[in-house]
Amino acid sequence: MPKILVIPGDGIGVEVTAVSIDLLNIIERKSGTKFEIEEGLFGGSSIDAHGIPLTDEVKDKALDSDAVLLGAVGGPKWENLEHSLKPESGLLTLRKELDAFANLRPAIVYPALVDASTLKKEIVEGVDIMVVRELTGGIYFGQPRGIEPIAGGEQKGVNTLHYTSSEIERVARVAFQIAEKRNKHVTSIDKSNVLESMVLWRDTVTELREKEFSHIELEHLYVDNAAMQLIRRPKTFDVMLAGNMFGDIISDEAAQLTGSLGMLPSASVGNKGAIYEPVHGSAPDIAGQDIANPIASILSLSMMLKYSFNMDKESGMIEQAVKNTLDKGFRTADIYQEGTNKVGCREIGSAICGEFENL
Ligand code: NAD
Repeated sequence: MPKILVIPGDGIGVEVTAVSIDLLNIIERKSGTKFEIEEGLFGGSSIDAHGIPLTDEVKDKALDSDAVLLGAVGGPKWENLEHSLKPESGLLTLRKELDAFANLRPAIVYPALVDASTLKKEIVEGVDIMVVRELTGGIYFGQPRGIEPIAGGEQKGVNTLHYTSSEIERVARVAFQIAEKRNKHVTSIDKSNVLESMVLWRDTVTELREKEFSHIELEHLYVDNAAMQLIRRPKTFDVMLAGNMFGDIISDEAAQLTGSLGMLPSASVGNKGAIYEPVHGSAPDIAGQDIANPIASILSLSMMLKYSFNMDKESGMIEQAVKNTLDKGFRTADIYQEGTNKVGCREIGSAICGEFENL
């Protein structure tokens, strides 16, 4: 039986994951596929219960599962802990343990939400981008790191950016393979005009394309230019490939094209498992109010069915149920426009579950 570890996490992570679990129960019933579903504490909730963001028990359960469905972690309560005890540090450890090296973040502008974007309709209409972000290397993991005292009573903060050619090649291969099934265009993002690690990035991506993917078009952009072009001509992008930090920033910018972080799912796939989670965080500003948008979590579940369990039909049905619900005018506060029906997290969740049942 396929195994799923569900980790709701903190803040709105708990609220949006509850909706996805309701939907998963319906999917099990409709498809006849049974999942072994376990739950685990992670992030702030694990710190409160066990003093650390990720216990060995939960880590082992994650390694033993076929897929992990995560909500979000973090919040002001745990913000001032030392780095290794912060909820976000548990998230980085989990990704590293699962060797989930490629983070896939689709940014799609739904026709019903085209006016929710802060950009003009004619710029964002039809945007459909997949950001592929390297997730287990780069400056978020590089050693040495830390803050140390130096002469004169000053302090020095240090982080290190390094990539090996094999780390670059494996994530670039994922980007090219995804582009093969889409519009056959990859934009690789770097800062090779300033950073040696990024010269290697550009050379490695170029070589891989020449060796294995000469049928895919490859464009290179410096990250500062990419940030500008993404709001100037978003429709021209298909797959955007970037390292860990640049990908983190570019994928949030792509998120804004769609109008709300609450609409964006992600998949982190690798050698020992896969994590599916919304792009957004725990949103402490709206947590506990039943106003969060659960669609990013629901679409993360849809990606899980597609990429981990080959359930393309059910994955497509989830997307259709979301579209139908939006077309009927249901909106959470973050995507609300005049003339539509503003509802809470649970209510839009029930509407999506109802649409799914009726497909
Ligand atoms: P955030 O994504 O939590 O929130 C940013 C803004 O978007 C907030 O105004 C929030 O209300 C809104 N928002 C986010 N998701 C929403 C949703 N589903 N529906 C409606 N509105 C939504 O980012 P932040 O405020 O920078 O971070 C809050 C906490 O989350 C921090 O502790 C941060 O470290 C953590 N975080 C965790 C993850 C993760 O678990 N993967 C990712 C990002 C941030």
